[in-house]
Amino acid sequence: MPNIAQHLDTVRSRIAKAAKAAGRDPDSVQLLAVSKTRPAEDLLEAMDAGQTSFGESYLQEAIGKIEALHCPSCKWHFIGPCQSNKTASIAQHFDWVHSIDRLKIAQRLSDQRARYQESRKPLNLLIQVNSSGEQSKAGVSPVDLDDLACKVKELPHVKLRGLMTIPAPETDFERQRRPFRLLRELFDQLNEKGYGLDTLSMGMTDDLEAAILEGATIVRIGTAIFGERKKAS
Ligand SMILES: *Cc1c(COP(=O)(O)O)cnc(C)c1O
Repeated sequence: MPNIAQHLDTVRSRIAKAAKAAGRDPDSVQLLAVSKTRPAEDLLEAMDAGQTSFGESYLQEAIGKIEALHCPSCKWHFIGPCQSNKTASIAQHFDWVHSIDRLKIAQRLSDQRARYQESRKPLNLLIQVNSSGEQSKAGVSPVDLDDLACKVKELPHVKLRGLMTIPAPETDFERQRRPFRLLRELFDQLNEKGYGLDTLSMGMTDDLEAAILEGATIVRIGTAIFGERKKAS
C-alpha cells in the first residue's frame, strides 16, 4: 500500500478511536486533508484512497491543483488568511472558507459568489475565532463574535456553517482541550440563539484527539497524512 494511503488509514483510526472515547459516532467527524505545499500527485494518491475533502492555504498554488486534478466529487476548503484581493478567486474555486474574521471579506465573498448562483451552492463559511488570547493574531475575539456572526448570517450567497480555531500549540492534553472547549461553548451559545450551526473545525495532527473530545466535526490534518512540510526558505 502506498504511504499516503497507509497514513490516511492511520489517521482514520485515530479519529474513530477518539470519537469512541468521547461517546461520539466516528462518522460525525470529517477528515479534511490539508494539502498545502503538496504536489498534485500526492493529492491524487489520497483521492485514490477515498479522500475527497482537501484544505489549501495558498491561493495560486491551490487553483493550479484544483484545475489540474479536475475532481467533481472533491470539496475544496480555503483555510489560509483571506485578504480582499483573493476573494473573487476563492468564490470561484472553493466550496468552504474557514478563515472569516472580518465582515468585509464575507460580504465580498457573498457578492462574488452571486455570479455562480445558477450552478453552485452558496459558499460555506466558518468564522475563525482567536481562542487562545494574544498569542495568535488571526481570528475574531470571542467578545466580537456575536456581532460578526449576526451580520454574516444575513448575507445571501454564503452560508454560515460554524466556527474554526487554530490555538497556540500545546503538548499537554488538558491544556489542548481548553481553547477547543471555549470554541464549542461559543458555538453552543450561538445555536441557543437559533443560528443552526453544524460545523466546528478544530484539531490538527498534534491535537485531534483533544478537539474530537470537545466536539470537533472537521479535523484539519496535514503532517500525519502527507509527512513533514518543507520549511519555507
Ligand atoms: C497547515 C494547517 C493545518 C495542518 O496542520 P498539521 O499540523 O500539518 O496537521 C491545519 N489547519 C490550518 C489552518 C493549517 O494552516
